[in-house]
Amino acid sequence: MLEIDGSRGEGGGQILRTSLALSAIAQIPIRLYNIRAGRPRPGLQKQHLASVLAAGSICNAEVAGAAIGSREVIFTPGEIQGGDYYFSISSAGSCMLVLQTVLMPLVLAKTPSRIVLEGGTHNPFAPPSDFLNACYLPLLKQMGASVELNLERYGFYPAGGGRCVVNVHPAMEGLRPMEIMDRGKLHMQRVIALVANLSDSIALRELEEALRVLQWSKKLGSRSEVESVGAGNVVFIECQFENATELVTGFGEMRKPAEVVARGAARKMQKYLQCDAPIGLHLADQLLLPLALAGGGRIRCQGLTEHTTTNIGTIQNFLPVAIETSEQVDGTYVINVTS
Ligand code: AMP
Repeated sequence: MLEIDGSRGEGGGQILRTSLALSAIAQIPIRLYNIRAGRPRPGLQKQHLASVLAAGSICNAEVAGAAIGSREVIFTPGEIQGGDYYFSISSAGSCMLVLQTVLMPLVLAKTPSRIVLEGGTHNPFAPPSDFLNACYLPLLKQMGASVELNLERYGFYPAGGGRCVVNVHPAMEGLRPMEIMDRGKLHMQRVIALVANLSDSIALRELEEALRVLQWSKKLGSRSEVESVGAGNVVFIECQFENATELVTGFGEMRKPAEVVARGAARKMQKYLQCDAPIGLHLADQLLLPLALAGGGRIRCQGLTEHTTTNIGTIQNFLPVAIETSEQVDGTYVINVTS
């Protein structure tokens, strides 16, 4: 049994999710302890518990310690089974992070899957469904796994209630290595502001501010009102290049002016555009798992976050891959995965 210390490095939910995914794929039983020790409310919260149970159900695992607040889980995987799955988080916890847990195992299953997820679809500190569709899934397709994610209802913090349906066509011959070192030509850039059960003027102000900071034409902005059980507001800024896409996000919050939300997102995009690396900060940590499972690949990214360095350590506990990072003279990083 592999022992995984959840307090290592970044000390958050990602160690748990990556470990569950790799336990199922590599068929290695694990004991995870000190789960989310680095977070203000340590142990399993609803979203993490949902991830443990979801991982357990796709591979018929024996699971001990699956309870709210639990800091230790023992997970003994069985064979991964593609099929129809329904995972619901009763809070606004991110269903995208539950998806992050089960996606790679199901991509490597022998048969297709259809996953219905309910909960938060647009949460701070998690990839929104738009990020997966714009940035992550196109690259996964390049590696040999076709995954369609359809958002059926938005779920914002705190009300949740979102829903999406994901169809996974497995990579029958395994994942292929991928190399992305340059952006290539710019294909599209845009700002989108969405509101649910809130005034349209919020979206309008966000668009104006984001476009002003970025010095982009007004034509690049659009806004809409979306259906959700509760109130919510999000602004996306997207730059699609030939070889990769970056999408940054700003979330509306009570007492946070729309202009501040938009400015925060615009600054994130400015930082990405100031360097010329194709892979953004979040995409880098999320691509590590498919690259390691492909047994190789090389990406150049904007920087190295603690999520990325922690994920490298977690992956190397399970798989016989070398993952090396090297800083370039321009401050970007190359991540090289070899087996
Ligand atoms: P953790 O904090 O350990 O639960 O992990 C959060 C995960 O969500 C990491 O894979 C992050 O890269 C990802 N993430 C957080 N914020 C965003 C965002 N705005 N866009 C895309 N991915 C994100």
